[in-house]
Amino acid sequence: MNFLTNIDSPEAQTLRYRMVSEQIAARGVREERVLEAFRRVPRHLFLPSGPFLMERAYADSAQGIGSGQTISQPYVVALMTEALHLQGTETILEIGAGSGYQTAIFSLLCKRIIAIERHANLAERAGRLLNEVGVTNAEIRFGDGSNGLPSEAPYDAILVAAVAPEVPTTLLSQLTLQGRLILPIGEEHGPQRLLLFTKTPEGIQRQDLGHVAFVPLIGASGFGLPADLGDMDI
Ligand code: SAM
Repeated sequence: MNFLTNIDSPEAQTLRYRMVSEQIAARGVREERVLEAFRRVPRHLFLPSGPFLMERAYADSAQGIGSGQTISQPYVVALMTEALHLQGTETILEIGAGSGYQTAIFSLLCKRIIAIERHANLAERAGRLLNEVGVTNAEIRFGDGSNGLPSEAPYDAILVAAVAPEVPTTLLSQLTLQGRLILPIGEEHGPQRLLLFTKTPEGIQRQDLGHVAFVPLIGASGFGLPADLGDMDI
């Protein structure tokens, strides 16, 4: 996969290198393959255009992407990515593709990604952007991914980018042996913890990676639909 240089700029590259050193490496993300992926992917392409695009894209915070959803803070994307310890051979299921930025990062670090998004407009936009930047090992699917995608299982890693009320056991059953599942668990508007599960011959190991704040996973194994469906397109 090759990110085209004509959609990038020296200004964006400078901001991106600073984002990697000051927001990501400085907080303890060490895997060089991961840091290099964050230096290469033009994050500003994945945000809706508008005033102060560059400042917003490389800021140390989550940003709105439309439909009431967000692209996660760069450090959180990096933390979750590093926790999966990808070698380049993996098949990954990503639930909550949003803008497609995390998918683009994964495309440099693993073999194949299937990413599911429940907002049709976001799924369509993410797929188009990934195509435009030359990603060939990822596909975006539209729908409710809260129960995973058993038809394509098993996966070496599953990442859920939205908070679930509890660990969907069906996701654990879709992992390979030594496979990893990372997701936020907690309340829709309350405390949330980022949890990493590893499937071992002895059973499931669980690691707590700290406090996070994510939008809710909506669907069969997530939270119910909000009463106000104004910003929903499915
Ligand atoms: N990682 C994404 C990125 O790089 O832009 C950001 C993901 S955003 C924090 C969470 C996404 O999960 C939203 O786009 C939301 O629509 C999606 N989502 C929530 N519930 C879902 C479900 N059941 N299936 C698929 N996507 C879901």
